[in-house]
Amino acid sequence: MNILLTGGAGYIGSHTCVVLLEKEHHVIVVDNLCNSKFEAIKRVEAITGKKVIFYQEDLRNTPGMDAIFRNNAINAVIHFAGLKSVAESVARPLDYYGNNINGTLSLCSVMAAHGVKNLVFSSSATVYGDPEVVPADETAPVRPFNPYGRSKLFIEEILTDLHHSDLSWNIALLRYFNPVGAHPSGRIGEDPSDIPNNLMPYIARVAVGRLSELNVYGDDYDTPDGTGVRDYIHVMDLAEGHLKALEKLATNSGLVTYNLGTGKGFSVLEMVAAFKRASGKPIPYKIVGRRPGDVATCYANPSLAGRELCWTARRGIDEMCADAWQWQSMNPGGYGETG
Ligand code: NAD
Ligand code: UDP
Repeated sequence: MNILLTGGAGYIGSHTCVVLLEKEHHVIVVDNLCNSKFEAIKRVEAITGKKVIFYQEDLRNTPGMDAIFRNNAINAVIHFAGLKSVAESVARPLDYYGNNINGTLSLCSVMAAHGVKNLVFSSSATVYGDPEVVPADETAPVRPFNPYGRSKLFIEEILTDLHHSDLSWNIALLRYFNPVGAHPSGRIGEDPSDIPNNLMPYIARVAVGRLSELNVYGDDYDTPDGTGVRDYIHVMDLAEGHLKALEKLATNSGLVTYNLGTGKGFSVLEMVAAFKRASGKPIPYKIVGRRPGDVATCYANPSLAGRELCWTARRGIDEMCADAWQWQSMNPGGYGETG
């Protein structure tokens, strides 16, 4: 199949490129590189020995997107492109709604014009907000409490309306939990351009000496050790979930929603200990106050994806940390200024 990946130069997109290329799919990437580097695409090609067709383009440029669809016989789209920082979304809600929602509207209008109606969308566990019951399954109430999460929920609703208006659309809404780790080669990985907001890239930069210590946001939650509990999922497991979702859409699935997580929660301090084991490096940390907007515990019930996609996350936290460390230690400056 010819598969278009929006945001395919980014963290999850680049790993998904590898999985798709290894399954002999043709991969076309459109990315404006606002949070990624072309170097990631070059490394995907080096890992797989296969070519990626790349367009540096903004999804909101509808004529530009139209040209990409005219020049490539696209069968399905995986839509990763979007802005993803919770804190930034609180400070710049218009940018977040503008980019994430207008980008999706532009993409879908071009898809409709070209009769391409198979779409996988990157949603997030953030749509559950603070789940009343864990593990959260797909029927849990959705009530995100920041603009980023609301942009994801609004897009889920737009795509649901689109499907209802034309039942020939096949759409998979994938709610990711906490993606971490890297390709085991250590050649691609997560490379946030600023100081990381997320736990794992922050720990990795402390281990490699780029940051001095980790701030642990609160040890007074109602969790076994008082620190926040999340469902960390290896990015390669997540990437494989996209392949399974595409296979599902090919059966004319209609609109489907899946949690992609492991079903297990780990605390901040458990992740620190696991990273220390994997890297052999000290991870100095100090306990500070809670981060506004954080929830105590969030982990998935991923059994629907298990039943309907035949997909389960296989890699545990030791492998997640080992692969994240491999990437970080081989690329202490990330992708650097290489392009
Ligand atoms: P990322 O920032 O590494 O990748 C997103 C890519 O989209 C970047 O390469 C960026 O340059 C591109 N992009 C953004 N706006 C664009 C636009 N208007 N036009 C073209 N390209 C654009 O992020 P990621 O971690 O790979 O996340 C991929 C998707 O998964 C995002 O939609 C994110 O919201 C979602 N998600 C991520 C996580 C996570 O923790 N990483 C969790 C849940 C959901
Ligand atoms: N966290 C932390 N220090 C950091 C970053 C995160 O203690 O520098 C904690 C955070 O409070 C949460 C967990 O690590 O309990 C995961 O946070 P992350 O931002 O990675 O994911 P999210 O909160 O979006 O699930």
